[in-house]
Amino acid sequence: MTAIEDAARTVRDTGGEFRAGGTDVMTRATRPPVDLLGIPGLRGTTWGPDGAARIGALATVADLLADDRLSAAYPALAATAAAVATPQIRNVATVGGNLLQRNRCWYPRNTALACHQTGGDTCPARAGAHLYSAVIDQGPCIAPHPSSLAVALLAYDATVEVHGRSPLGVAELYGDGGDPTRDHRLETGEILQAVRMPAPAPDERAAYRRATAREKAEWPLAEAVARLTLDGDTVATAAMAVGGAARTPLLLPEVAEALIGGPVTEETATAAADLATARCSPLPGNGYKVALLRATLIDTITACGKTS
Ligand SMILES: Cc1cc2nc3c(=O)[nH]c(=O)nc-3n(C[C@H](O)[C@H](O)[C@H](O)COP(=O)(O)OP(=O)(O)OC[C@H]3O[C@@H](n4cnc5c(N)ncnc54)[C@H](O)[C@@H]3O)c2cc1C
Repeated sequence: MTAIEDAARTVRDTGGEFRAGGTDVMTRATRPPVDLLGIPGLRGTTWGPDGAARIGALATVADLLADDRLSAAYPALAATAAAVATPQIRNVATVGGNLLQRNRCWYPRNTALACHQTGGDTCPARAGAHLYSAVIDQGPCIAPHPSSLAVALLAYDATVEVHGRSPLGVAELYGDGGDPTRDHRLETGEILQAVRMPAPAPDERAAYRRATAREKAEWPLAEAVARLTLDGDTVATAAMAVGGAARTPLLLPEVAEALIGGPVTEETATAAADLATARCSPLPGNGYKVALLRATLIDTITACGKTS
């Protein structure tokens, strides 16, 4: 039995939970941790002949930032990584753990309360404290997804390798947000092995922006990644993804499509961002997030237009 199979079986047999960097799981652990750090083959970045990167799941967020080739090929992934948490956390937090971390809603973390996430039949955040909750409503639970790297990976059209099954698109990794008990679609004992990035197009550009309640060490209230190719001044292809807004990291195809065929200006960025706000249905206490999402999208798109 390989080390990866052994770890998977241990999690299934003991009802445990994998631990990579441990920065998320150890803040809420009620199940025995099963370490992934010693498993060979899950680290490092390798490159295909076409210039596509394969990033091991145990690469740390700091490893992404230290890799000049990665930063040059995928600048918005690097910008996203640079904004995550603090230097201390980035040094231990892994790519796999970042993608599979649990949401930060305070209700399921309080064992005295029941909610949809913990097998209850209500969402206390809807009637209660929802200052940070999702503004794009995908189902019973309104905890926004916490992974920033996932937003970049969606915009880059990355896939993930999961031991024992075919690669999954990042959107598939998260599903439609309709199951309140899950932050991702991996089953117990499944191990994310690597992220596969597509080779960047020669004239591709990308940008990342976020809005936060404090400058550092905070999950964003809204974040966005834009990835564009331009033919002269005209947008030829576009991808747009947002985080902090919904139960899953989310691609916004209507925003991307609105950009195609025109120049990147404040006006076109604003018109495209308005399509995102049309999706929003905020609660009484988090309407401010709609304005932040809109401003973040405009900022990200215009920044992307200026990047070369
Ligand atoms: C102050 C603060 C600010 C933060 N700000 C941000 C932010 O802005 N954006 C952001 O994205 N994150 C943010 N974080 C969260 C941080 O990035 C995550 O805690 C970290 O990325 C998790 O990685 P880890 O390796 O420590 O995961 P772990 O805690 O080890 O694991 C997390 C989860 O993933 C599972 N897991 C881990 N690796 C694998 C694998 N290879 N296969 C299967 N399952 C696996 C574990 O079982 C566990 O359920 C912040 C954290 C703090 C404390």
